[in-house]
Amino acid sequence: MKVSDILRAKGSEVATIGGEQTVAEALKLIVRRKVGSLVVVNDADFPEGIITERDIVRLADEKAEGNWRALPVKQVMTRNVIIGLPEDDVEYIMKLMTANRFRHVPIMKEGKLAGLISIGDIIKSLLSDFEAANRYLTDYIANKYPC
Ligand code: AMP
Repeated sequence: MKVSDILRAKGSEVATIGGEQTVAEALKLIVRRKVGSLVVVNDADFPEGIITERDIVRLADEKAEGNWRALPVKQVMTRNVIIGLPEDDVEYIMKLMTANRFRHVPIMKEGKLAGLISIGDIIKSLLSDFEAANRYLTDYIANKYPC
């Protein structure tokens, strides 16, 4: 299965935020949109970083006494974003997530954000593969060995 197969079903919408916006705004967006990450984009909508719920939890722990909510997102985000392409195999994205210990991969197409694959999307696609294989094998056994 390819990344483009997942995006066809899921859509290409990506939750984004600007680097000058605050961590409080990021937190609000993450909660309201029920996502685990926001891609940080510049005025041209080009990704400059990523901030996830994990970054905010870490920040809240490190700066427990300070006003961490007022910090700009650009001070907290991860800058070197690892991206995927629509033509990538889902297995490749799984390897990226496992090797780098993150759960979100923005997808770029022709220099533009074209979607985001989360670990939840991967599990969903594996589950539907398993269900299809299970159904096939069940039908095969039922036809071969009728009771
Ligand atoms: P996550 O498991 O996705 O919540 O992210 C764990 C850490 O990896 C956080 O510090 C994120 O900012 C960072 N991160 C998440 N996704 C990516 C990515 N695609 N490229 C680089 N860093 C990432």
